[in-house]
Amino acid sequence: MYQPESGPSDTVDVGTKLRVILAAPRGFCAGVVRAISIVEQAIERFGAPVYVRHEIVHNKHVVQQLRDKGAIFVDHLSDVPDGVTTVFSAHGVPRSVVSEAKHRELPVIDATCPLVTKVHVQGRRYGKAGRELLLIGHRGHAEVEGTMGQVDGPIHLVQSVEDVAALDLPNDLPLAYITQTTLSVDDTRGIIAALRARFTDLKGPDVSEICYATQNRQTAARDLAEVSDLLIVVGSATSSNSSRLREIGEEMGVPSYLIDDGSDFDPAWLAGVGTVGITAGASAPDELVDSVIAAIAKIAPVEVSQLDGVVETLEFSMPPQLRNRAASSVHRSTPA
Ligand code: SF4
Repeated sequence: MYQPESGPSDTVDVGTKLRVILAAPRGFCAGVVRAISIVEQAIERFGAPVYVRHEIVHNKHVVQQLRDKGAIFVDHLSDVPDGVTTVFSAHGVPRSVVSEAKHRELPVIDATCPLVTKVHVQGRRYGKAGRELLLIGHRGHAEVEGTMGQVDGPIHLVQSVEDVAALDLPNDLPLAYITQTTLSVDDTRGIIAALRARFTDLKGPDVSEICYATQNRQTAARDLAEVSDLLIVVGSATSSNSSRLREIGEEMGVPSYLIDDGSDFDPAWLAGVGTVGITAGASAPDELVDSVIAAIAKIAPVEVSQLDGVVETLEFSMPPQLRNRAASSVHRSTPA
């Protein structure tokens, strides 16, 4: 059991033992583990600096750790000097970026998550079959920009059920939808139902094909919120899947906060709380969850346990340029 290190708080009785329950699974998914390993191994093998287009994953701690090792993050390829090893982020890139890199003969290592690539392939397949595309996702997200630029022909972004009614398309047009991977089956269900209700010739992938990690973390967050008085989600504000975990807690009537690490924890949140649930987005390392537990333990003694959940074993292979390397030091799996 953690013991408090500081004196009494105005808001919490330090004599009261707090229950802290961790979600399972939480934190790093296979795509994030792979993307971080790619940057680390690229620096090891080709030397620093290695340029990374866009934040490799949406977590400020992960990005800073990689910066310290020799990664330079840029928003545009024009910021990459000629001849320098360049990594594309886990979110994927539009084809125009791939062409630009080829044109400049940049040595590129693609860290696009294989599940994102799968969405690109699905989109192209539907396009080839003569279907106009609908992408269910959030405007401005790096993955959405990448996916919209990976398909041929027209593609329409659908962010909500209201957007479905507003689509300026004939109801009998051959259409197909694809989805942003950080939306779960539950997130997309309403939009897909609205699309099916309106369009008579609509195809789409089996919903079970949407990213396993997103679905598992959302299911675990829901289970956790059911037994918690307060839900803490560890992740950066730029992380779409982390924000969604916080929204799930809020939808279930549990005060829910998204924080980067323990230093963001506000002791006032503990007023009247007996059980704190903690989970983490797919781009947040488990050491940040530990920092939140430590921050709480400074206020009151805590007893930590973990809910039962799905055990994830999926691993993605490394890109050809980095094959035959030992497993990366960042590869941490969430204990189940
Ligand atoms: S959340 Fe899913 S799609 Fe995104 S990087 Fe992780 S495994 Fe890949």
